[in-house]
Amino acid sequence: MTDTLFSKIIRREIPADIVFENAHVVGFRDINPQAPVHVLFVPRDPVPTLNDLRHDQAELVGQLALAAAQYAREQGFAEAGYRVVINTNAAAGQTVFHIHLHLLAGRTLSWPPG
Ligand code: AMP
Repeated sequence: MTDTLFSKIIRREIPADIVFENAHVVGFRDINPQAPVHVLFVPRDPVPTLNDLRHDQAELVGQLALAAAQYAREQGFAEAGYRVVINTNAAAGQTVFHIHLHLLAGRTLSWPPG
């Protein structure tokens, strides 16, 4: 597949505020935050959307979720609560076609989201 903006961030070719990193996942602050905490967790493996995830890649989404939960614990807001979102394709407003999990926290998050 073609290179993505987020792959360039992962390779440090584009600057970003990277706040989390392990063997599978990189987390960095969203450039247009929708909450006091808004971090994007991105797999090093650039699957375009959730629709493209194969069964043999199921662990990839688990790694994103585990990374977000670890970050929430380490930052001290896991108990207060947070939201994770994976926007998929046009109706959800996906703009970067490298699967990513949004972690939102630090304010009351309404439900339904609208
Ligand atoms: P989505 O709509 O789910 O595809 O989300 C893409 C997100 O990437 C948006 O919330 C953007 O604000 C964010 N974004 C775009 N470019 C950058 C960048 N260079 N650094 C950090 N976040 C970005």
